[in-house]
Amino acid sequence: MNWGLIGASTIASEHMIGAIRANSGHDVVSVLSSSPTRGKEYAAKRGITASTTSLDDILNGSDIDAVYISTTNEKHLPQAMAAIAAGKHVLCEKPLAMTVADAATMVRAAQDSGIVLATNHHLRNAGSHLAIRNLITTGRLGEVLSIRIFHAVMLPEHLRGWRIDNPLAGGGVIPDIVVHDADTVRFYLGEDPADVVAQELSGAMGVDVEDSVMSVWTTPSGVTVQTHESFTHPFAGSGIEVHGTKGSVIARNVMTQQPVGDILLRTASGEKSIEYSLHNLYERSVSKFAIAVTGDGQPAATGVDGLKSLAVAEAVKKAAVTGQRTTVDYGGY
Ligand code: NDP
Repeated sequence: MNWGLIGASTIASEHMIGAIRANSGHDVVSVLSSSPTRGKEYAAKRGITASTTSLDDILNGSDIDAVYISTTNEKHLPQAMAAIAAGKHVLCEKPLAMTVADAATMVRAAQDSGIVLATNHHLRNAGSHLAIRNLITTGRLGEVLSIRIFHAVMLPEHLRGWRIDNPLAGGGVIPDIVVHDADTVRFYLGEDPADVVAQELSGAMGVDVEDSVMSVWTTPSGVTVQTHESFTHPFAGSGIEVHGTKGSVIARNVMTQQPVGDILLRTASGEKSIEYSLHNLYERSVSKFAIAVTGDGQPAATGVDGLKSLAVAEAVKKAAVTGQRTTVDYGGY
């Protein structure tokens, strides 16, 4: 499968180009950048044959089967719609779009055209999260009562651009990190958070966008979820805990891009360390996408999954701004 990169981004460079090439028979053949010079340099440095500033160039290339969209968030909608119209399968970065309504437009267009639209939620591809989900679904924790998510990090210096000062490009910790946590909770529980309360902060790093948020969600089955996302915490570390009537999972350092972290299962029998697969998260995302393109199954996270994680993030933002308990609006999905 030949891929076109839409966006000469950091995530493509640090993770996705390698992940695509690690899948046998897959290569990156072209990259789109808004800057001809940067695009050329980006391509040359990473062994990509072609670079272009024209979306049409990439989409009209008969040698390209799929595109990976990793531009800033406001561009995901128009670029995905153009790719779908051109018959290219789309793996799009999170947040899928700027609004749930836009995400729904993308999902509908892909469905109508028979195109695979996937969201690059990497965490549900992690061996650690697959293992925790397995503990939940096999009943080892009993009935799940609550989940706590610790996702307050220090935004690396090289990512302190549009994320901290440009709401029009989708900046802010809510679109950046809350979507990942929402997707992880949905992946674990197989149900969608129903309503949320939240408070946000800005100013420590974010200009015109929030740089920290805490929220509490409830699910239809009565699970309460407590989350903390931030760009400003150098030493907090990440983690997730799932507490049930028969056991608790306490996982540390697992809300990351690497196959790392520790999982502890605590039950009436004592404490036990849980082993898990250490495969590359992004390689699995590409692999599941490729299988879906062949018509066999679904990508790890579909377009609808991207829409739903965005819907939770939208509700968190609304709740934080209004101070009101807010129902999550999934736009009919
Ligand atoms: P970057 O800021 O690296 O890239 C976004 C855009 O900014 C690029 O498309 C590029 O525009 C432009 N750009 C990048 N570097 C430079 C530079 N040095 N000078 C000028 N312009 C530059 O963003 P990220 O890679 O961090 O994020 C891109 C997308 O991926 C976002 O939607 C984000 O939410 C998502 N993401 C997902 C992650 C995951 O694990 N799933 C992790 C990180 C990000 P152009 O293409 O026009 O050259």
